[in-house]
Amino acid sequence: MGDTIFGKIIKREIPADIVYEDDEVLAFRDLNPQAPVHVLFIPKRAIATLNDATPDDAALLGKMLLAAANYAKQQGFAEDGYRTVVNCNTHGGQTVYHLHVHLLAGRRMTWPPG
Ligand code: C5P
Repeated sequence: MGDTIFGKIIKREIPADIVYEDDEVLAFRDLNPQAPVHVLFIPKRAIATLNDATPDDAALLGKMLLAAANYAKQQGFAEDGYRTVVNCNTHGGQTVYHLHVHLLAGRRMTWPPG
C-alpha cells in the first residue's frame, strides 16, 4: 500500500475525513482545501504517479474518475460543474507520490491553472 502519507491513511494509521470508500478506491477531504469542496480520490493499491500506471490499471483509473464524478453529482455540483486534476511529478505540482485525483467544486475555476 506504499509508504506515503496516503498509504498511512489507507491503513488508518493517521486520521482523515473519509467521504467515500469501495474495494479499490478511497476518498477523503484535502487538509488544505483549494475550493469549498476539495476531495482526493486515491487507489488503495499504491501507484506513485500517472507515469507508473499501466494498461492493467485502466479500470482502476476509470473507477477513480467515476467515483469523483459520482461524488460531485451526489453533492449537487453536476450542473454548475467542477474540476478534476491529476498532478504528475515536479512540473505538474505533485507533492505526494501516491496517485490521486483532486476533485474541486463549489466555486468557479480559472484557466489556465497556475
Ligand atoms: O497533487 P499534489 O500531490 O500536490 O496533492 C497533494 C495533496 O494532498 C495536497 O492538496 C495536500 O493539501 C494534500 N494532503 C492532505 N493531507 C496530507 C498531506 C497532503 O490532504 N496529510
